[in-house]
Amino acid sequence: MEKRRVRRIAAAAMSGFLTLSLVVPVHADSISDAQQKGQQLEQQKNTAENEKNSLSAQLNQVVSDMEDAEKKLTAKQDEIKTAQDELVKAQIQENDQYEAMKLRIKYMYENGNTSLIEVLFSAKSMGDLLNKAEYVKTISEYDREMLEKYENLTKEVEKKEKALQKEEEELKTLQNDLIQKKDNVNKLLQEKQVEIASLETQIGENAAKLQQLIKEAQEAKRRQEEAAAAKKAAEEAAKDKQQSQNKPSNGGGSANSGNSGSSGSGGSGGGGSHVSGNGTLSYPVANPRITSGFGYREAPTEGATSRHDGVDFGAATGTPIYASADGTVVTSAYNSARGNYVVINHGNGMQTWYQHCSAVYVTQGQKVSRGQNIAAVGATGIVTGPHLHYEVHVNGVPVDPMNYL
Ligand SMILES: [Zn+2]
Repeated sequence: MEKRRVRRIAAAAMSGFLTLSLVVPVHADSISDAQQKGQQLEQQKNTAENEKNSLSAQLNQVVSDMEDAEKKLTAKQDEIKTAQDELVKAQIQENDQYEAMKLRIKYMYENGNTSLIEVLFSAKSMGDLLNKAEYVKTISEYDREMLEKYENLTKEVEKKEKALQKEEEELKTLQNDLIQKKDNVNKLLQEKQVEIASLETQIGENAAKLQQLIKEAQEAKRRQEEAAAAKKAAEEAAKDKQQSQNKPSNGGGSANSGNSGSSGSGGSGGGGSHVSGNGTLSYPVANPRITSGFGYREAPTEGATSRHDGVDFGAATGTPIYASADGTVVTSAYNSARGNYVVINHGNGMQTWYQHCSAVYVTQGQKVSRGQNIAAVGATGIVTGPHLHYEVHVNGVPVDPMNYL
């Protein structure tokens, strides 16, 4: 009865677990999926914990039942031992009586008549004689009665012992059942532990995945906001054509008057060609317009450095960016501050960097030639609006690009 109830509970718990497992999606693709999966895993774990507790309680009960059965069995074995002692005693008694009786019968046969006659003749009176005759009869009756009594006693004790042995067998069967039950419950308990451990692993993995998804979502949101800000800035810039906000802080760029002429040192750029040809490096954009020079300045955007390691060329998003010299692309990547950027190695310790690109057309390891369109101006990374942040590095140190253009 008890056993059947336990099995039913275990079966119900098991099927409940299977149903839940089927509901849970294998992959969490979105934050809400991962959160939902996390909740489901926690629920599964709670269920498994409850089942485990129930199994532990069952195990305790079984162990207690086993102790009980063990006590009963020991008591029963003591009873059997007592009964066996009793039986031996009864058998001895019966045997003694039988032997005594045989001796008396034998004596009476051997000396029967004489002794009987002697007994009878020794009677002093008729009454005495009758008494003596009665005495002889009584002796034989006594023997028979005693023998019967002892025989019965022996039979009874034997019966009792058999009954006790039967009870002992039943107790042993009960004990075996309990051992089996204990093994079963133990096995279920171990399975439950494994299940809980597996759920805990899944919960950990899911939590890590959730964190990753949240991080990615934040990154994506930040990029969207940057793009929106850049778009807004571009629209405002287009609206008011003066664009007097951006001033070159570089000492060399004294010309602040207007358009393409501002890149004084290079000189030849005004003609529409994107290659200046004069310097070691050519201008990375056509009609270059410097909006911020190399050197120290007020940080224009929160998060930007106050030391300006390059030169900013103001240009609309999509404006082509050209390689300043022949070389090899060593980096083509995205960075939260630089946005999409390209680094070209020109040999002799010289590199040029092109940052905040809206698009990049080259890949790492690719050979490029001077004047090749490698990317497009954009507003990715930390920026207030679309421009090309251009750096020249010599032996790993940023230098003023104007010295090479
Ligand atoms: Zn810059």
